[in-house]
Order: sequence, then structure tokens, then C-alpha cells
Amino acid sequence: MSQPIIRQSTITCPTCGHQETETMPMDACQWFYACKKCGALLKPKPGDCCVFCSYGSVPCPPRQQDQDACSPSSGTTSYPIPPQSGGL
Ligand SMILES: [Zn+2]
Repeated sequence: MSQPIIRQSTITCPTCGHQETETMPMDACQWFYACKKCGALLKPKPGDCCVFCSYGSVPCPPRQQDQDACSPSSGTTSYPIPPQSGGL
């Protein structure tokens, strides 16, 4: 049985508690997320593949499908450079 993929995930900022519902990409993982309230840059916790798995109400689409498509433990440890949040 296939269950529908949920693409909306509510991210809770661990710094200020702000919640924001975001739409997840189907085939890519978002490793960095900047809180829209306090500007804190969220990164996946160790063992999690993206910020939605760590801080979202719903894990990312690959995880929902029982896939490890975006697992960071596949050899390389090179994370992309986090986006600059527009000055201090
Ligand atoms: Zn925040």
C-alpha cells in the first residue's frame, strides 16, 4: 500500500520556538533553514538528513518513502556552504 507523501512540514525553531510551515522539495533535502523570526540558522541533527527530519513536524519525502535518498552518510562529508543571512 502506498501512502500519500506529505509535502508540508511545520518547522519549529529550537532557538525562539517560532513555527513556520514550509513546502518540501520532492527529490532534494534542505540542509539549512533560517528562522524567519530570529534568523537562527538551523542545521540537521547528527543522523538526520535534513532540517525537516530534525525540526519539522513531518520528515522529508524520501524518509516518508523509506528511502535513504538524501542520507549524508553516503561517503562524502562535504556539506554545502550555508547561505548568508544578510549581515549580522
Ligand atoms: Zn527562531
